[in-house]
Amino acid sequence: MTNNTVRNSADILVFLQQANGRIHPNSLELVTAANTLAGGSGARVFGVAAAETASAGLLESLRRLALCEVDVYAGEQYKNFIAESFSAALVDCAQRRRPGTLLVGATPEGRAVAPIAAVPLKTGVTADCTALAIDEGGLLLQTRPAYGGDIMATIVTPAARPQIATVRQGIFTHKPSCGNALIHIHEPVLPKVFPLPRVVNKQMEDAADAPESGIVVAVGGGLRKKEDLELFFAVNRALGGELFCSRSLVERGWLPHVRQIGLSGRSVAPRLLVAFGISGSVQFFAGIQGARRVFAVNTDESAPLMRAADCPIVGDMYAVADEIIAQTTRSG
Ligand SMILES: Cc1cc2nc3c(=O)[nH]c(=O)nc-3n(C[C@H](O)[C@H](O)[C@H](O)COP(=O)(O)OP(=O)(O)OC[C@H]3O[C@@H](n4cnc5c(N)ncnc54)[C@H](O)[C@@H]3O)c2cc1C
Repeated sequence: MTNNTVRNSADILVFLQQANGRIHPNSLELVTAANTLAGGSGARVFGVAAAETASAGLLESLRRLALCEVDVYAGEQYKNFIAESFSAALVDCAQRRRPGTLLVGATPEGRAVAPIAAVPLKTGVTADCTALAIDEGGLLLQTRPAYGGDIMATIVTPAARPQIATVRQGIFTHKPSCGNALIHIHEPVLPKVFPLPRVVNKQMEDAADAPESGIVVAVGGGLRKKEDLELFFAVNRALGGELFCSRSLVERGWLPHVRQIGLSGRSVAPRLLVAFGISGSVQFFAGIQGARRVFAVNTDESAPLMRAADCPIVGDMYAVADEIIAQTTRSG
């Protein structure tokens, strides 16, 4: 037994990330996941959100979620994303609700909030889970890739509560619900350690813009120079998708980390993924498990992504990109 006495609550608390009153798709997926985990066990599923203003639109969106109750912390200090402020709200809620499990989206914000909250709660965090289950004893089985994606490890937290997991986007499917959650509005909670001012709201908006489904165009190491990205942004506009990349382009400093797909980036679950010049490392595959159809363009037909793709196109990514733009211009 550690310094946190284990309580046997089966209740689940979901951190509901929002930007401009819109609930992040990853949080919506976690509401569905939490209800699946709770099953018929009688466990209650709660939500917690923090926002600059408790607008009528936000409250209505929260009320409709399949949750018993939602705690909303509202105040000026949640205007910009400051991890310590959001963590303080999360901790306050977890101490009131005393859940056995706490689920947080593995967004850039969730990855910052969860470990800061874990410290005062005297528990740990399993980051970037790709599967969750609950065993007959109430232990949360938290599965995630380990050793660079070579194995899947299942991690348990037997000696502390809540069991905190951050969960990747696109792992669970959000099932829209017509719930009637009870809303409680709270004053903001001041963090114990006041953070240095930082402006990271831009990243919050970026994260909220991640595609829920639809089309993702991904560009990889086959790109010859940064200026050539413009061609693939044009392809992306022609297809009406969102442009992401493999780690190669982030390492070259050509695109920001929020655009990286994969084990150390984000997961995407589009209807269609169109990948240009990406080999298909195990780490990249970790981020596209939820993709329904994959088109891959590569000069090397033996690249792993080509072998796994529904539609492998052997050819030069630049020529294929030009052709897509020409075709869409002709038909549009
Ligand atoms: C702990 C750890 C975590 C990692 N996390 C991630 C992660 O989150 N995401 C990630 O992507 N990687 C990650 N990596 C890196 C990963 O191992 C690979 O190095 C990376 O995915 C390679 O990216 P790539 O396939 O785009 O580039 P490359 O391996 O360089 O492949 C480029 C591909 O482009 C093709 N090509 C070249 N020219 C053309 C052309 N003109 N037309 C068409 N095709 C062309 C080549 O045939 C090749 O297949 C991680 C590695 C480690 C160790």
